[in-house]
Amino acid sequence: MRDIYNRRVDYMRISVTDRCNLRCFYCMPEEGVCKMNHRDVLRYEEIIRVVREGAGLGISRIRLTGGEPLVRPGIVSLVREIRGVEGIEEISLTTNGLLLKDMAANLKHAGLDRVNVSLDSLVPEKYKEITRGGDLKKVLEGICASIEVGLKPVKINVVIMKGINDDEIEDLVKLTRILPISVRFIELMPIGHASQRFKDHYISMDSVMDRIPDLVPDDKVQGGGPAVNYRLPGAMGTVGFIGALSHNFCHRCNRIRLTADGKIKPCLHSDLEVDLRPALREGKGSLGEMLARAIGLKPRRHCMDNEDREEGNRDMYQIGG
Ligand code: SAM
Ligand code: SF4
Repeated sequence: MRDIYNRRVDYMRISVTDRCNLRCFYCMPEEGVCKMNHRDVLRYEEIIRVVREGAGLGISRIRLTGGEPLVRPGIVSLVREIRGVEGIEEISLTTNGLLLKDMAANLKHAGLDRVNVSLDSLVPEKYKEITRGGDLKKVLEGICASIEVGLKPVKINVVIMKGINDDEIEDLVKLTRILPISVRFIELMPIGHASQRFKDHYISMDSVMDRIPDLVPDDKVQGGGPAVNYRLPGAMGTVGFIGALSHNFCHRCNRIRLTADGKIKPCLHSDLEVDLRPALREGKGSLGEMLARAIGLKPRRHCMDNEDREEGNRDMYQIGG
């Protein structure tokens, strides 16, 4: 389906939980979060109904996210069921990778195509600090397991932050010389919890690129997302840049987001939401019409770069990135 600005919307990101086994400092408060009421969280059968309706409107690609999607029991079966929905051509997953080593093979067999692993540091102590407790070794094992079982391509998402991990840009890029992965640098966004940290730690993608000479453009990376891709000559993998603030890509936006509590967010950066639960649970209204309405509500562009932007009603762990 096309939205009112003639953008083709064919991609749905589904947050399956707001729970997480980490507490990244830019995403969640240290003390943890007030978790969603269990009853509010969509059951898998409800998610499948949304996927089916979405497929009827032209959604062909699904990404599972969270919170941490791998902490929700039964996630492998959800992948299998989505795989069976007619019209869905690709299923991907965004994860912190902690549980990936043991789950990668089952996810692949269930029909997962590819995976994005979030990894902001290659220094064990720093990784632990950023994530408030994460074990880097487990994430690296998860990445290797994903490559081994053939989840392809494996992408590594790095939120790059001044004074925190910008000294690791070169080391992260070097990984692409020896591994068939795509390392993607992402600008810190002033969303929810990150808003307070934003001024101190934001770096633009141009300044990140300036630190990596020798890159040559590469337009063959799979996914069709917002990243602009490059490669070091002779490297096995690629390097991507996602500058949501400095290089606005709203004109190419192709997605809607389903939150774990059943709301469609037409735009990541807007509080606008369409609640699907009345249609899903009480038979009030048509699910397909609600989805089409949400697509119709997509704004022309976000206003994150606006100085007097609103705080926003959700943190990133409640949206899924
Ligand atoms: N737990 C999973 C993970 O970490 O990959 C999935 C959910 S997480 C919210 C999805 C992505 O959002 C992660 O790559 C994370 O680094 C990113 N993220 C969270 N807060 C962000 C922010 N303020 N700006 C940019 N990216 C952010
Ligand atoms: Fe959890 Fe992902 Fe947020 Fe980190 S970025 S706290 S892993 S949801």
